[in-house]
Amino acid sequence: MARYRDAVCKLCRRERVKLFLKGDRCYSDKCAVDKKPYAPGQHGPNARRAKHSEYGIQLREKQKVKRLYGLLEKQFRLTYEKASHIKGKTGENLLILLERRLDNTVFRMGFARSLAEARQLVKHSHVMVNGEKCNIPSAMVKKDDVLTIREKSKNIASIAQAGEAAARKGLVPVWLSVDHKTLSGKVVDNPSREQIAVPIQEQLIVELYSR
Ligand code: SF4
Repeated sequence: MARYRDAVCKLCRRERVKLFLKGDRCYSDKCAVDKKPYAPGQHGPNARRAKHSEYGIQLREKQKVKRLYGLLEKQFRLTYEKASHIKGKTGENLLILLERRLDNTVFRMGFARSLAEARQLVKHSHVMVNGEKCNIPSAMVKKDDVLTIREKSKNIASIAQAGEAAARKGLVPVWLSVDHKTLSGKVVDNPSREQIAVPIQEQLIVELYSR
């Protein structure tokens, strides 16, 4: 499957916001957005900041969300189509579907330092859902699902480190409950839009795809 292979910090710099794609580095003074607060490219800091059209603003918002959840265009578009068939506001449904992805849930539970690391854990079958192996990052978790790290994988150092950091920073959202000692977590409720703490104007994405 196609995947993005270039430097991920460029994505944050392009959107001019921190997308927190690199774990601990994002919280340190090495963060590229802080060090180079301008878009990547050969013109660098001297580039004139273009005034975006309405379309441009909508496009940037869509790109930001897509990059935040580590999806490529086709996967993102399919998730949008799915959201548009669910009762309620399409923009909110989209964010809820993205948030409920298994890789994102593993990341939010603090079993990985970044979304990319969480996806790797899922793909390599280190995560069990309700006691069953599940290695599909796009699988949707639902209320009362229990996620555990496979017994054989519990000694992976990065999982424990990520858990400590997540607990310390209070990063686990209220729709999840996690026990970092036993490396297990439960989906206590489906997330609502208010519980998704990402600065996104999802309406702009709906407007873009409705053109
Ligand atoms: Fe983005 Fe993290 Fe890189 Fe900063 S360190 S630019 S937040 S990925």
